[in-house]
Amino acid sequence: MIRITKSQPAPAPLTTRGARHLRQLQAIQAADPAACQIPGNKLLESRDGIYNDAQVKARLLSDQHRKCCYCESRPTSVSYGDVEHFRPKGGYQQARNEPLNKPGYYWLAYAWENLYFACHLCNQEFKGNYFPLRNPTKRAKCHTDALAQEHPLLPDLATENPARYLTFRQDAILPKRGSLRGQACIEAFGLDRPELLDRRIEHLKRLTHARIIGAIDLSLPLNATARQFLSEARLSLAAGQALVDDARRIWQEAALDTAEFAGMVRASFPHLPTS
Ligand SMILES: [Zn+2]
Repeated sequence: MIRITKSQPAPAPLTTRGARHLRQLQAIQAADPAACQIPGNKLLESRDGIYNDAQVKARLLSDQHRKCCYCESRPTSVSYGDVEHFRPKGGYQQARNEPLNKPGYYWLAYAWENLYFACHLCNQEFKGNYFPLRNPTKRAKCHTDALAQEHPLLPDLATENPARYLTFRQDAILPKRGSLRGQACIEAFGLDRPELLDRRIEHLKRLTHARIIGAIDLSLPLNATARQFLSEARLSLAAGQALVDDARRIWQEAALDTAEFAGMVRASFPHLPTS
């Protein structure tokens, strides 16, 4: 995970259709707050056609460089991914094993600052409606409550840098200095799941190859290493130089916001440029 910069202003479907439906939801809640707390009720259901609008998703994908906000994979080649609500819109769980508490953060269903792009696994298989607070008695339960009194265990990536809580040892993700919030992130998003560990280790291997090839000096007169490289790879000098240039670019761009797994790369190679 890395911090995410959200472009402004909010996409139009949220501020037009979303704002209109939000007023309806607020009126329903104000008319009968108790009914909205009954387990399983659907009084404050949001409209997925608004927050899932193509304009909203396109903007999230652009702001997040097509990466999942949690695992930093690019899932779009194998799955479309989800528009994720940081504070769950339909109901929440303080603990994994408890039933869904109602209502959820219905008033944030169309709030731009509450929306992210996440892969199917991080969103649906792991986080779901889990949203633990340090002190659950401080939870905002309707649109007139103050969110500022909440202290969520999971970091809001538009306002917090997750590197304060999480670090990596090679491909393994760890809570920084035993951070409770770091541990909560790893568990909530499944950031240590085996498939993700495999992808991160492959990524580190590719970067190591890029670093080695990028270090080859093909300036004339060629040294022995350069001659051996061109001969074994059966490359002309021009083709070899193109390969070296590409490897240097991959290495130099590996910690930018645009790169997959930039959080892991930054932890392992803190001297690489991040912007
Ligand atoms: Zn993910």
